[in-house]
Amino acid sequence: MVDNCPHCNAIFMKDTTYICPSCRKIEEEQFHTVYGFLRNKRNRTATIAEVVEETGVPQNQLREFVKQKRLHPAQFPNLAYLCEKCGAEIKSGRICKDCTKEIEDGLLKHARNERSSLEEYDLLLYEEAVRMI
Ligand SMILES: [Zn+2]
Ligand SMILES: [Zn+2]
Repeated sequence: MVDNCPHCNAIFMKDTTYICPSCRKIEEEQFHTVYGFLRNKRNRTATIAEVVEETGVPQNQLREFVKQKRLHPAQFPNLAYLCEKCGAEIKSGRICKDCTKEIEDGLLKHARNERSSLEEYDLLLYEEAVRMI
């Protein structure tokens, strides 16, 4: 399947990777830089801001590594990525506890109504919410 790279917009064959080979290469180099820095025992508790400053790797990329579990929060306690809904720092799942609760409350309310009375828009939200939890 041919697709545009989400980083640089180049067209590439999308099979095993989600970004093009040249971005992939840059990403691997960034990962090695970050991992090399964090592997040092005294850097294990570095914050995102400190890692960005020391390695020059962009914050977004760094959070992406954490999200992909390539940098595991259990190993590096001060690293986190962002809730897809509100942007709060989280260490597991796709959304934070508050947003999860908000969606669950919304679902409960819906469950009390007849499902057939849901507007199409609500149904879309409902399905999106179920996928996120
Ligand atoms: Zn690319
Ligand atoms: Zn949130």
